[in-house]
Amino acid sequence: MFNVSKIRADFPILNREVNGKPLVYLDNAATSQTPKQVIDVIVDYYQRLNANIHRGVHTLSQEATDAYEQARLKIQAHFNIAKSHEVIFTSGTTHSINLVANGFTSLLNKGDELLVSAMEHHSNIVPWQMLCERTGAVLKVIPMNENGELLMAKFDGLLSHKTKLVFCNHVSNALGTINPIQEIIQKAHAVGAAVLIDGAQASPHIKADVQELDVDFYIISAHKVCGPTGVGMLYGKESWLKKLPPYQGGGEMIAEVTFEETTYADLPHKFEAGTPNICGGIAFGAALDYMNAIGFDAIASYENELLDYATQELLKIQGLKIYGTAANKTSVISFNIQGIHPYDIGTILDKLGIAVRTGHHCAQPIMDFYKIPGTVRASFSFYNTKEEVDVLVEGVNRAKAMLL
Ligand code: PMP
Repeated sequence: MFNVSKIRADFPILNREVNGKPLVYLDNAATSQTPKQVIDVIVDYYQRLNANIHRGVHTLSQEATDAYEQARLKIQAHFNIAKSHEVIFTSGTTHSINLVANGFTSLLNKGDELLVSAMEHHSNIVPWQMLCERTGAVLKVIPMNENGELLMAKFDGLLSHKTKLVFCNHVSNALGTINPIQEIIQKAHAVGAAVLIDGAQASPHIKADVQELDVDFYIISAHKVCGPTGVGMLYGKESWLKKLPPYQGGGEMIAEVTFEETTYADLPHKFEAGTPNICGGIAFGAALDYMNAIGFDAIASYENELLDYATQELLKIQGLKIYGTAANKTSVISFNIQGIHPYDIGTILDKLGIAVRTGHHCAQPIMDFYKIPGTVRASFSFYNTKEEVDVLVEGVNRAKAMLL
């Protein structure tokens, strides 16, 4: 039995009020909340460990380095990554994708093709467009259907010997769709293309095994898995990380520097220029510990219950349409009510203490596909409850009565 009240006691923010009402936090796809266990690690870091890492002989520096490298090992274990130096700390998903896109500049030729799914976050579109501008490569789109599922037959048709890279999210942050990434990876590899999977929205729901997936790059942000903002990871297969040039130059990423020539450090440091988010990295490891202690199977099955219940209850509201009705989806519900702008619903819900997201969710092409300006998005985490779903549904009903 999933003990949600015990779990909620770990999250101090869930006790606060917003506009005089108990907070109902349903914006988990934008960022997750932070449990006390992770907050304690952050406080402990600044009270006991704070020092720069990797280059100090003094005790604090060594202890901070150990804690940071321990976090790398936790991330390695979580994603079943073969070698710890295949884990690169970054500032998050956006940074990770830019790092890879930048690295491919010297590996692509004019006319090479890159395939992107129709349901990407802007951070998995724009860096590739910039790469195409630099190289003359061409970006092609794997289309989706009305349910928000990729058209895999069209994907087959797009693949060719010209395809060099395929990138796709594991789960869509705007629709909740779980994409068939195993099939995408296998098919892309069959034509010799590399695959980058944006795992940002999958990470709170699904524990990915990068070796089983045989994926070339897998990327997440810590803030989606109960960790802090401003830190994330890039997993890359060693062979790729060796092939890609460094992204940023500076301290930490060098072997030798003279004014004539610089040689680069080995992995992972080659991609970790400058003082990193040390506390954030350590807290990232603690956040994965926290979620693993609950267990991803238990989390997913509880969140699926919330998803089913919320879908059923929201659909009872006349005129409400859900975007993203894939059979295989996570606890993200994007919806609109006919005749009402999503922003107006979000504003009224906020007055009732309910935090949802409104707008295009950094996925404008999806909104263009449905010919809408945006949606209201309620995204559920393992610390949400059925009672909170009821508050949401009541709130949406009230908003509808006020606005129509
Ligand atoms: N991709 C997806 C699927 C996401 O959900 C997000 C965060 N909403 C991002 C990319 C960008 O992550 P970040 O802003 O942490 O870099």
